[in-house]
Amino acid sequence: MKTLAATKPHHFVFTSNVDSHWVKAGFDETKLMECHGSTAWMQCTDTECSADDSAPPIWSAADVIKSLRESPLDETTFRAAERALPKCVKCGKLARPNVMMFGDFSFVEDRLDGQEQNFQKFVLQATANKWKVTVIEIGAGEAVPTVRYTSERLTALPGATLIRINPRDPQVPPKLVKSAISIPAGGLWTLDQIMVHIDAWSKAKDSAAAAIAADQQKSATK
Ligand SMILES: [Zn+2]
Repeated sequence: MKTLAATKPHHFVFTSNVDSHWVKAGFDETKLMECHGSTAWMQCTDTECSADDSAPPIWSAADVIKSLRESPLDETTFRAAERALPKCVKCGKLARPNVMMFGDFSFVEDRLDGQEQNFQKFVLQATANKWKVTVIEIGAGEAVPTVRYTSERLTALPGATLIRINPRDPQVPPKLVKSAISIPAGGLWTLDQIMVHIDAWSKAKDSAAAAIAADQQKSATK
């Protein structure tokens, strides 16, 4: 995806994954919205503490991950050691990942709010500058259709195209049939194929440009 994004002047990533893999892959965090949060960040379990403005409401999970790795599970109870449990950096109570669960009213939205603003800004820019948007949706299921609905909303932009890659639910709504390409296959295989075609197309374009330049040179020297 990073190689593909580099071939375009603009991109934005919208994901429901909480594994922070887009960040680990080196994507720009200002062009990323993780709509269910991320396990790379922690927050307090106490909503009162999270509401206290005197310290950041969320913090990096790097230390927590390190401490859990250093204190393996008790294999008789399969519970983490008490000392390894993550603590709030503000009040010392139990901390939790900054990930939104279903019906989760104590999820701290600060980071997600910032990401959402960046996403809205991107959509406004795309609309104002009439960018020809291509939405590449990979493996977004129908059980929790947040990602599918987001792609379908974006495809309503003038000239936008949706590429829906999904081996199980590749179908698109009837109103989008003319602006969507449905690929019933796996994500990695499809992305590889897209890159093969882009490479072939760009080589053909380069050799056509070289042939035109050679022709022009020939007519100029006549
Ligand atoms: Zn706290």
